[in-house]
Amino acid sequence: MSTATPRRVAVLGATGSIGGSTLDVIARHPERFRASVLVAHRNVEALVALCVAHRPELAIIADPAMESALARQLTAAGVRCEVASGPEAITTAAAGPLCDTVVAAIVGAAGLDSTLAAARAGKRLLLANKESIVMAGPLLLAALREGGGELVPVDSEHNAIFQCLPGGRPDLDAKGVRRLILTASGGPFRGRSRAELAGVTPAQACKHPNWVMGRKISVDSATLMNKGLEVIEAHHLFGAAPERIEVVVHPQSMIHSMVEYADGSVLAQLGNPDMRTAIAHALAWPERIEAGVAPLDLAACAPLAFEQPDLATFRCLALAFAALREGGDAPAILNAANEVAVEAFLAGALPFLSIADLVEGVLAELPAQPVVDVQTLRERDAQARSVARRKLRTAC
Ligand code: NDP
Repeated sequence: MSTATPRRVAVLGATGSIGGSTLDVIARHPERFRASVLVAHRNVEALVALCVAHRPELAIIADPAMESALARQLTAAGVRCEVASGPEAITTAAAGPLCDTVVAAIVGAAGLDSTLAAARAGKRLLLANKESIVMAGPLLLAALREGGGELVPVDSEHNAIFQCLPGGRPDLDAKGVRRLILTASGGPFRGRSRAELAGVTPAQACKHPNWVMGRKISVDSATLMNKGLEVIEAHHLFGAAPERIEVVVHPQSMIHSMVEYADGSVLAQLGNPDMRTAIAHALAWPERIEAGVAPLDLAACAPLAFEQPDLATFRCLALAFAALREGGDAPAILNAANEVAVEAFLAGALPFLSIADLVEGVLAELPAQPVVDVQTLRERDAQARSVARRKLRTAC
């Protein structure tokens, strides 16, 4: 048992799927970790319940219209903590003195500023919010260098690769790394033809066979855009050229990803599909702690299967590879268009197969430009969203 002061953890996106798993791991190790800052978007009831359970020093609701309700309900529940609201309060807290560790688990581009702020402030950054590194990879890496902190990936594939590499972000050639192999479950529609996907519903798309996740990432998993975002994330995190990153479909989700070395060795990280493993690893790294995850029963999950992804049916993965090869801000354009498309699909306003069409159309209309700074990136993000919305209106 550690005798040091507990690490103070800001959980951004506390009411979400990753937020809940993080708080579960934290609660198992009160001597090591304390949830000092909790952040949600609009879900006041869930945030209050988490504050009752974890007693943070600061609770933030992103939507300022909800701040008074949050304050009132916390008082009624007997919780005494500071209350704040708005995106700036989140960014300030991510860089501020109430935490030394930041779990970036807000969904979508909304997580960008707080992720960058935590990196710049030298916090230990546990990155789940893949959209921020997809949008702003070079800027995030520069912010990490500036802050001198460390990033430990929470996305299970990148956490697996991190575990299979000899130290955080090694020179891949010098260490004899040949390929990074990202595994993909294939999502709920694996094996289906385009014709069979024409009428699928949001409820079907959100029913992932192996993982319980938020709705946006669930749809991304169903289109394989999630894997595409992860390819871009791996490129930035590990300095791997696109040709060095391979995706293999592995329906059991027991192998979370692999690293192939020059001598032919392939190192894999295995475990049950439970995000608490990656979260516990990232929280405690370089130590290991109990995560509440059931031991892997190898005989029960055999045989392990592998197949090539179907890029003709699940076009989003091919679009993400193309955006990565194009470079500049093409991944940010891809991400923004995808966020609009997924929102429309979840609202019943866009067919499943049209998600890829919309993303492709926006990328075609906005050729890549160099990534200069956050402000320019935000403008390009807004431009891509506006083009996507226009295309949506004309398509309907
Ligand atoms: P959820 O939808 O379950 O949760 C999203 C969280 O973000 C909620 O707490 C939500 O608050 C909050 N949020 C949404 N919008 C804003 C905003 N504008 N400002 C502040 N907070 C906001 O998502 P997940 O937990 O599934 O995913 C979170 C991130 O982690 C995503 O980027 C995803 O790609 C990544 N990830 C998720 C994995 C998983 O297994 N779930 C695996 C690997 C990566 P509220 O509840 O109030 O709406």
